[in-house]
Amino acid sequence: MATIKKIAAELNYELDKRVAYGNHKGYQVTLIQNFSAMNAQDNFKILCVPFSKIDTTKRDTLVRFIAEFKKELRVVKYDINADLITIRLNEGFKGIKAETITSILDLLLEGFAKAGMSPLENCIYCGEEHPDTSTYIDRVKFHAHETCRQDTIKKVEERKATKYEGNGNALMGIIGAILGAIVGAIPWTVGVWFGWFVSPLALITGFASYAGFKILGGEYRPYVKYLVPIVSLITIILSNLVIVMMVAYMNDVSFTFVLQLEDVGDFLVEAMMFSLGFGALGLFYVFRKIKQDGDVAEIK
Ligand SMILES: [Zn+2]
Repeated sequence: MATIKKIAAELNYELDKRVAYGNHKGYQVTLIQNFSAMNAQDNFKILCVPFSKIDTTKRDTLVRFIAEFKKELRVVKYDINADLITIRLNEGFKGIKAETITSILDLLLEGFAKAGMSPLENCIYCGEEHPDTSTYIDRVKFHAHETCRQDTIKKVEERKATKYEGNGNALMGIIGAILGAIVGAIPWTVGVWFGWFVSPLALITGFASYAGFKILGGEYRPYVKYLVPIVSLITIILSNLVIVMMVAYMNDVSFTFVLQLEDVGDFLVEAMMFSLGFGALGLFYVFRKIKQDGDVAEIK
């Protein structure tokens, strides 16, 4: 397997630890070697190419192009945002050589041309012309103005120091988390009511709660990682009780009467167990997402 060092040397790219930086026909290229001594699965290369901001039409054209040439582009997975494409490369058995990188870039640029895209030549921070330096955002190289770079580094430092306290409305965020969890709990509550085994649907409660938090509260806050699980699990417990309440209401008997029925007791314990189990599993994934959102970009 060609090492990143060898690739950088052959392509005449600049190397900084496990990241190679170069230029391909006017486009800045960052090639990152992800490395883990613990897990061979985590050893892969990521190709990042910034471009001038694109609209959805251009984006759609590029997405179609990538789908068509997924194999040739060696795409395992990729991500396109307004001005950057990130591709995790498939190394295959033989690994990736310098010439493979060149042909991948040639083909990718063909896709860019088809979509009417152009290199990102302006400052990544203010979008204005005549950048006078380079900056690195999460190791990806961009053009920038030195003043913009300094400003951003300062802002990031401040943000770290204040532990990401956002400007969004905290109360609205909490209400959003609660409403989101309720909406998320509806599908499986309805399903259980009809007697279907739908506990896996409880998975989405946490996602819905976090989505609600973001819609109404906006920014990341450290306490969201406690708020979302607590709200979600309480909502799941309550919706199980809502089912019992509905049974009581439909049969015109008291809540405690229904609870004391043997069948209902068994059903409730089982429903609680399964829904909380799946709810917790969902929260495991939500937690990862929250953590990602809380990460502040590393800027150099
Ligand atoms: Zn600038």
